[in-house]
Amino acid sequence: MRMSQLYAPTLKEDPADAEIASHRLLLRAGMIRKTASGVYTFLPLGYRVLSKIEGIVREEMDATGAQEIMMPALQPAELWHESGRWDDYGPELMRLVDRHDHGFCLGPTHEELITALVRNELRSYKQLPCSLYQIQVKFRDEIRPRFGLLRSREFIMKDAYSFHADQASLQKTYDDMSVAYGNICERCGLEYRPVEADSGQIGGKVTTEFMALAEAGEAELVYCTCGYAANTEAGACLARPTCYEVPALEKISTPGVHTIEELAQFLDIPESSTVKALSGRGDDGVLTVMFVPGDHELNEIKAGRAVPGFALLTDEEMEAAGLHKGSMGPVGLPEGTRVVADASLQAVPQWVVGANEDGFHYVGARLGEDFKVDTWDDLCIVKPGDSCPDCGLPLEGARGIEVSQVFQLGDKYSVAMGATFADENGEEKPFIMGCYGVGVSRTLAAVVEQHNDEHGIMWPLSVAPAHVCVIPLTVGDELVQPAAERVARELAALGLEVVIDDRDERAGVKFADADLIGWPLQIVVGKRGLAEGNVEVKLRRTGEKKSVPLATLAEMMT
Ligand code: ATP
Ligand code: MG
Ligand code: MG
Ligand code: MG
Repeated sequence: MRMSQLYAPTLKEDPADAEIASHRLLLRAGMIRKTASGVYTFLPLGYRVLSKIEGIVREEMDATGAQEIMMPALQPAELWHESGRWDDYGPELMRLVDRHDHGFCLGPTHEELITALVRNELRSYKQLPCSLYQIQVKFRDEIRPRFGLLRSREFIMKDAYSFHADQASLQKTYDDMSVAYGNICERCGLEYRPVEADSGQIGGKVTTEFMALAEAGEAELVYCTCGYAANTEAGACLARPTCYEVPALEKISTPGVHTIEELAQFLDIPESSTVKALSGRGDDGVLTVMFVPGDHELNEIKAGRAVPGFALLTDEEMEAAGLHKGSMGPVGLPEGTRVVADASLQAVPQWVVGANEDGFHYVGARLGEDFKVDTWDDLCIVKPGDSCPDCGLPLEGARGIEVSQVFQLGDKYSVAMGATFADENGEEKPFIMGCYGVGVSRTLAAVVEQHNDEHGIMWPLSVAPAHVCVIPLTVGDELVQPAAERVARELAALGLEVVIDDRDERAGVKFADADLIGWPLQIVVGKRGLAEGNVEVKLRRTGEKKSVPLATLAEMMT
């Protein structure tokens, strides 16, 4: 690569609307350009980095046994109607209509497409498990596209989907994928933390997010020395699609009612309903009771897990919180609050009831008036300082960038879309599914977020646009120029990726650009050094400079 020909227009000034380091530096280093809000072009250097990250992702996916495919970004609306997500997904889904009036969307994710793909051709348990993946462009009409590649409307994702005959098989692939995701972060040079998370619009119960630790990250994390870590998912409860409005407060006299069962009887709640206690904060004595129709189970829900902030209290926990077994403490839901039933709940609670006086209960009690918690957020979010659900120690806080996420989907899509296989006994069963996403372009930005200084980017060797930049101090000089060209050729012959800054520019300009672009190694070739048979080697990360004899340079580089 020759800098004189490279399309890498660097900028001296910080672009006005770039708030964070990765956005600013990727623009300044001539790696990306904005095309529209949340839509970016990758220039040659940015694209080289992107391709390297893709390469790492591909190797790690192939190692799990997943097979690469390529699905269309353009997806027919019918499939989304089948899964029910055409209505559920909301305005983030980019919808369009073709000339024949057929509805389509630009894929934000590919569960519908892949389920439709395999449902007629993956027929027998003998073909399972099966994992397929693609590296492809995704579209999400984000309400606030910002921070450059971190939250864009068109971005590159690696998405994988796995199909299984049973839960044990899904668990195995989920674990393998989780290992692969950790490897991807490590190989890209990211300091990261896997955290328990909410499954959002993808659905499912068990899910882990991989967070690149960074102050600029939009996600708030809590973690504990015991190993527990979770996304606090600020606002996640409110954003979930299935909601239930708490009615106006109604105080009812319930003489002699002490248990949930008695309350259910008193309120005439059908026996078929599951009676479950959910609490915002057991230690605050705040308890919300939800009665869920039918035989739906709530027992997947734990504090800071499937639904952050809600706890299904055990008898011991209730006792510790000063609550009688089966009785209710003060209730905490504001009037008009949308109580949320996430996918793991599979049903909207029909009655939300609580009490703060003996003999009295409230239906739809008001936040802040009827008990101590001040805001809905308090009820909903696990915060630093809260006790760890695993060991009870106070939780620490950090910020992170969600670079990837793995999900156990279960049979959500296979049931909705009729995707079945024949088991050993010839019986038709829905596939058990998993899905696994890596934000490839977001990972690129996260790497810059973690590896930069006041001069520019400091690429880890594994994803750098090239390994070495050779900088002749005087272009056209009859000694310096040929010596630099020779060094570049020799290093390239060793298998290193080499760029030579053969531009007729002042040394200061070349040094500044080299630091800004962030080549891991710089080799400066100048007249004075050459006279003694030396070049100068600079490590971008430490700024360390060393005079190295030309004769030993190649040896040093291997
Ligand atoms: P977020 O919580 O940041 O909105 P998400 O949970 O909606 O992300 P997923 O559906 O889990 O995203 O998609 C898988 C991966 O795709 C994410 O972990 C992230 O790395 C990447 N991704 C999602 N949305 C964007 C976006 N708008 N821009 C860039 N990458 C994104
Ligand atoms: Mg999102
Ligand atoms: Mg998320
Ligand atoms: Mg996610």
